[in-house]
Amino acid sequence: CGQCVQVCPVGALSIRDNTDEVYRQTAAGKTMVIQMAPSVRINLAEALGQKPGTVSTGKIVHALKKIGFYKVFDSDFSADLTIMEEGTEFLKRLKEGGTLPMFTSCCPAWVKYCETYGPDLLPHLSTAKSPQQMFGSIIKTYFAEKEGLKREDICSVSVMPCTAKKFECKRPEMKDDVDIVITVVELAKMIRTAGIDFDNLEDAEFDVPFGLGSGAAQIFGITGGVMEAALRTVYEVVTGNSLEERLEFTAVRGFEGIREASLQIGDLTVKVAIVHGLANAKKVLELVREGKADYHFIEVMSCPGGCIGGGGNAPTTWKKLAARRDAIYQEDRNLPIRKSHENPYVQQIYKEFLGEPLSEKSHELLHTHYISRRDLIR
Ligand code: SF4
Repeated sequence: CGQCVQVCPVGALSIRDNTDEVYRQTAAGKTMVIQMAPSVRINLAEALGQKPGTVSTGKIVHALKKIGFYKVFDSDFSADLTIMEEGTEFLKRLKEGGTLPMFTSCCPAWVKYCETYGPDLLPHLSTAKSPQQMFGSIIKTYFAEKEGLKREDICSVSVMPCTAKKFECKRPEMKDDVDIVITVVELAKMIRTAGIDFDNLEDAEFDVPFGLGSGAAQIFGITGGVMEAALRTVYEVVTGNSLEERLEFTAVRGFEGIREASLQIGDLTVKVAIVHGLANAKKVLELVREGKADYHFIEVMSCPGGCIGGGGNAPTTWKKLAARRDAIYQEDRNLPIRKSHENPYVQQIYKEFLGEPLSEKSHELLHTHYISRRDLIR
């Protein structure tokens, strides 16, 4: 409809620009490590003047190296990790009669909304941290140990489509796992200020071992993507059957504000809902509170369209969102690995460090808790 949908989901009227902090920490000699969210590769070139849906993954990696980052990693890796943890938590709740429907927890604006307007429903939220925070935790522990660094030697930065991620990384329970969050618009500004000829940059590769993500992780950037990624893994884990050509769950896709779908997984018909935009989230919270939502799993993303419509991107319209959507689904189709549990680096980190999903170590590093923020509205 051409309606402008740029939003600040946490309601912060002035969004702090953190680019100076990146330069300060680089000058202070910190080991600069950055992760890039799934939708950033879809949205960055547009913020620099190219047409919506222009994918520029390799150029962004190269630009970040030129800016001075020692390692450039892909948040797609930790999106895969999120699916392993959140998917296993979902199955545990199903098997053991835990609180259902389970809500996704990777959108910090939604988490804060739930803490403020639905504290009675907090047991429904998955305890899995967001991919940004899971990555931060792994960088300051596993990665630091491998590199022979102390956590305070590292400055962990993330480039996100999102202004709410700046709030999330400062939550006390997240420690200093992510030190600085910059948005797509801020990174575009850094690239321009540094005089980098972005359009003519050669592609560069992400660093290993956290530079590989699946197609399932890639679609985290769009409404319905987290649900689709989770279903790809949960289906195969429960049934032991490969999805093969039925990998794309088109029933959870689309821009309708509230969507629902059912999927036969073994003996169980799993009923899911997908919600984007906080006005729609409010409606679903009410349904759950009244016991009228017979879903098992609900994905909520605060921004219209999901992260491709996040407030840290260039201004958004529905037409631009459609171009970004097409690009993100194409990226999924282009990737050789399209299911989170098949990411070999995810398998490796469980083997070497975490043990298994929901292990004690995973709980310590990859899960969190929530608080009531009801006071904020008194
Ligand atoms: Fe941030 Fe994405 Fe949530 Fe928007 S939908 S607030 S961009 S995590």
